[in-house]
Amino acid sequence: MPKQMLFLPGPVTVAPAVLEAAARPLLNHRDEEFARLLERVTGALRPAFGTDGDVLLLGSSGTGAMESVVSNLFSPGERLLSCAVGAFGKRFAAIGESFGCVVEPLETPVGAAVDPQALQARLEADPRRAIAGVLLTHNETSTGVACDMAALAPILRAHGAISLVDSISGIGASEFRMDEWGYDAVVTASQKGFAAPPGLAMVSLSERAWERTATAKQPRYYFDLRRARESARGGEMPWTPPISILYALDVALQRYHAAGMKTAYDRHARYAQLVRDALERFGFTLVSKPAAHSPAVVAAYPPPGVDAKSLLRALREKHGIVLAGGQGELAGRIVRFGTMGEVGDDDIRAAIAAIEAEVRVTSGVA
Ligand SMILES: *Cc1c(COP(=O)(O)O)cnc(C)c1O
Repeated sequence: MPKQMLFLPGPVTVAPAVLEAAARPLLNHRDEEFARLLERVTGALRPAFGTDGDVLLLGSSGTGAMESVVSNLFSPGERLLSCAVGAFGKRFAAIGESFGCVVEPLETPVGAAVDPQALQARLEADPRRAIAGVLLTHNETSTGVACDMAALAPILRAHGAISLVDSISGIGASEFRMDEWGYDAVVTASQKGFAAPPGLAMVSLSERAWERTATAKQPRYYFDLRRARESARGGEMPWTPPISILYALDVALQRYHAAGMKTAYDRHARYAQLVRDALERFGFTLVSKPAAHSPAVVAAYPPPGVDAKSLLRALREKHGIVLAGGQGELAGRIVRFGTMGEVGDDDIRAAIAAIEAEVRVTSGVA
């Protein structure tokens, strides 16, 4: 079997130098050596978030950071507007519900991004400011949809609700300007755009959001962000950190910035375009609508007569190419091709050629 290449929307193919960093001996996470590592990593994360504020690291996958922003900023009974555009948006909403918030959905058709006018209309119909928070997914990995975060920002600011952004597959792969756009709580994770192994999540809060952490009444302990900030200011994390993942992320971020953020954004966008064009040529139907295409992941229905699951298995077993299937209502119906990670033009071309070959075999086209 050939060696496996991951084209998943997380975890992604990680550079050997990054994997090797994770194999280094551990250190004392309560001394200056760790403080320097933490300082370097958070310093490298700030520009990717587009913030001058604190970026906190949490020892968890991205979902832990999503939970942390709900539990630190709201009280049971408060109303959240969920702008879900797929399975990860629904997860955010489910977290809100499990913490006792009243979650109201803003419906968006499958494959579309949040419509700024629909959001504006809903928020303008809330003159008494019953909506305390708005849940958004920057890049919806289940449908390959990216929302226009620059366009949504002024609408949210005009209303004043606290805005929570899941940018787990957005930041790193595409531009985010937290301070300039005025978002309040933004989360991401190590195993997507930064091409490091999974195990670390990142959170940044606006000043307004920090004020809320003092009065929010949700229960929280492991993910108490006040505690995380206090520790971070002393060069520590509150609990034992995944030190090996931090080593790896440190090297991944050095590589990321050495190439430049703009280069990363352009590369993801270019690969996604190549993949979309190829899949459409092979008879696939994209899940995302034209104005909503994601640079980090392409989701598509296979051509008639081609079974998504069989195609994924053939790609993995015969070519060592690992794509993802669908989630939720799209399970078994689509394939998803992630453009994040340590992949080059040749890898993308090889993956596209393998898909073409398998589609021909299955559909019997010579
Ligand atoms: C990957 C992903 C998540 C989930 O992150 P975990 O690290 O698996 O907890 C959430 N939201 C989006 C948009 C993602 O891409």
